[in-house]
Order: sequence, then C-alpha cells, then structure tokens
Amino acid sequence: MNKLENIVSLCKRRGFIFPGSDVYGGMAGTWDFGPLGVTLKKKIMDEWWKYFVEQRDDMYGIDAAILMNPKTWLASGHLDTFADPLVECKECKSRFRADKIADGISESVTTEEFLATHTKCPVCGKENWGAIRKFNMMFATKVGAVDDDSATAYLRPETAQGIFTNYKNVVDTIYPNLPFGLAQQGKAFRNEISPRDFILRDRECSQMEIEYFVAPSTWEENFEKMRALQHDFLENVMGLSKDKIHEYEVPASDRAHYSKRTIDFMFDYPNGEEELMGLAYRTDFDLQNIARESGKSMEYRDKITNETFVPHVIEPSIGVERLFLAILSNAYTEEEINGDKRIVLKLPENLAPYKFCVSPLLKNKPELVEKAKEVFDKLRTKYINVTWDDSGNIGKRYRKQDEIGTPKCIVIDFDTLEDDTVTVRDRDTTEQVRVTIADI
Ligand SMILES: [Zn+2]
Repeated sequence: MNKLENIVSLCKRRGFIFPGSDVYGGMAGTWDFGPLGVTLKKKIMDEWWKYFVEQRDDMYGIDAAILMNPKTWLASGHLDTFADPLVECKECKSRFRADKIADGISESVTTEEFLATHTKCPVCGKENWGAIRKFNMMFATKVGAVDDDSATAYLRPETAQGIFTNYKNVVDTIYPNLPFGLAQQGKAFRNEISPRDFILRDRECSQMEIEYFVAPSTWEENFEKMRALQHDFLENVMGLSKDKIHEYEVPASDRAHYSKRTIDFMFDYPNGEEELMGLAYRTDFDLQNIARESGKSMEYRDKITNETFVPHVIEPSIGVERLFLAILSNAYTEEEINGDKRIVLKLPENLAPYKFCVSPLLKNKPELVEKAKEVFDKLRTKYINVTWDDSGNIGKRYRKQDEIGTPKCIVIDFDTLEDDTVTVRDRDTTEQVRVTIADI
C-alpha cells in the first residue's frame, strides 16, 4: 500500500489536514488544517522563528501585506517569467503542464519540441495538441471599485518581495550592521495548472523566507554559513533523518532567473525525492530592480569604511507545508509490538501537538476522575500542551495518542489514590513505569 495515502488518511482521520472546502466537495489545490494540524504547523513556524530570528543578533522580522503594488511584480520579473508551459488537448480540452507529461523537456519547451515527443493525452489517449502558451501562475485580483487594468493586483507568489521592498525602511530606521537578515513568514499563492501530491504542490501555501544581506565580496562564506544553519535546523530542531536529506546543486540552465547559485535541499518523501527547500544566491538582482523602478537608492553605507554599495543576498526559502509533510512522513511508523499492529507518529517532543495525555483508568469512578482532573490541571499549568482522554478503554486511548504522536500517556488508577503515583507509558517503547506525580 502507498504510504502517502496512509498519511493522507491519518491526517483526515485524526484532524491534522482536511481537503479545502470539504463540505462543498473540495477546492483543488487547497487544504485546511484541523485542530491537531494547526498546532503542529504553529510549532514548526514558532521553532523556525525562534531559531532564525529570536536567538540571533543579526536577524529581524517583517510582516508585509499580501497585496502589493503591481510594480513589485514588474520589477521582480514575475509578470514576464513566472509562467509554466500550458498545452491543451484539442480532443478532450484537458490542459496540462507540457514539461510534466513529456519526458526530457524543460519549462522553456517550444511547441515543436513538445510535438516531437509524440506524447499522448493522459486523459483521452489521443495525440492532437494545440500550441504551447505561457501561463502566468500569479492570481490576479481587482482592488477597489474601479474595474479597469489599473485596478489589477496580484496575490503575492512569494513572500521575498515583501522583504526586499522593506529593505530601505529597515536600513533607514534601525541601520543594522552587515551582514543582517530579514525574515518573514506568510501566505503565498501559485495558480498551479495541476496541483497534486497532497500538500506538496498546492495553490496556497505558507512560506518562511530570509533575505540575508551581505557585502558582495563575502557572498560565498555567507552562503556556506546559511547552508550549515539549514542542515542544523532541519536535522536537530525539526528532527528529520539526515540520510533522507540530499543536496542538489542546481545547474545554471535550471536556476531561477535571479540566481547565480542555488542548492535545492531534497527530501525522500513517500512518493520519491522532492524539493524541501531552496538556498539561493540572488546577487543584487532584486534591490537593483527596485532601485530602477522606484527611483530610490538601495545603497548601504558601511559604518566603518564609509564605502557605499548595494548589498547582495543569500536566500533560504522553505514552504511550511513541504516541511510539515517531511516531518509527518519522517515520523509515520507502522509496526508490530508483542503481536499488536499499530500506527505511531514518532514526532520530536518539541513538535508533538500534545506533550502528555492524562486519563483516569475508569471514567465511571468519580474518585479516579477527580484525581485525574487534579493531575491534568497541574500538568497543564506547567506544560500547557496537555490533553485529556477518558473515551473507550485504555488500549483505544493509547492507539489514538500513538497516532497523533503524544510522547507520554499518564493513567490515574486506584493505587494513585493511595500513594500519589501514576503509570507513565512511553509512546515509542510502549514501556510503562510508576512515577510519583510531583516528579513529572
Ligand atoms: Zn485528451
């Protein structure tokens, strides 16, 4: 059985992720996070913010508007180049991304090159194609009550431009020393022709991006610094297996138009190796474009040498959903313990939605319930992420807590009333030990 299907099924069954607008039959390329999913997602984003912004002296946060002046996308090149090759089957009218249905062609494929591959329509099996046209992936919308072209704006396709357009504001207000980074988390939108692979390729996603501004001559050492930080974060804070992360040095012909060097961090997802995040050297491409379109100087004056220059930029960029799926598939385990099959999410403790689950052995014994409530209140005051479960029998509760990744289950029984000890059951080993309440 396909493991991705099992993860999708677990996500829906336990309230991590639902199909977007599920009640109306869904909305392609959108997903909604349920109670457990939003907790995990927030923890991922908070850990990233703590690691890259709060714990460092050289990083600052930004939270820019999603709707931006359309000049942003003219200057950045997105209006011209943020496009996929779209091809339509003349027989059944289905539309596809040409480079995804034919082998050995790139995003810049021409109609002639595509026709020469003699690809058959994946829907009707015929071979009768229209010409390839460039399909811009930005979502356009109208701003205000005017209905002409001047009112057209776009939902941002990346959070990065909200950082670049604020570079000057930050330099003029807090005048940070180089190198310094500006970090942002937020929604980005891409009108994918064919969204697929669960949350890997969706039309609306959350990004976590840093633009790290450096003196031009120092880009290589800073690139290496950022590269090491990404590995440390992914492996030691997010708990991803080192052997599932692979670096891919993107060749010049495949790099985005703005990049002089890019490393894609690939991850072994259930359906194969896919991009998890990117690390790009964007040079001064964006700041120079903004200087040209806005007429404002983007120069930085070095406080010691008084030298002026436009900083260059190293950009680590990661999609929250991609990271979320990497964490889930890394944690998802089907195993047999003492003849019992179980599904368990072996999430790192810092990411598990709940740290503890507290329950009374029997829900119809008021004295056990009362004592369990007391323990629950105490632990929640101390650790916050604590859940309560008195449904079904103990075995069922353990199976549920295993599936949502709760590291420890605490059960209050009749001995607890006598000696203030409880049973603490470990998620990964299923071992149970007696512990005094005060020691938890
Ligand atoms: Zn067709």
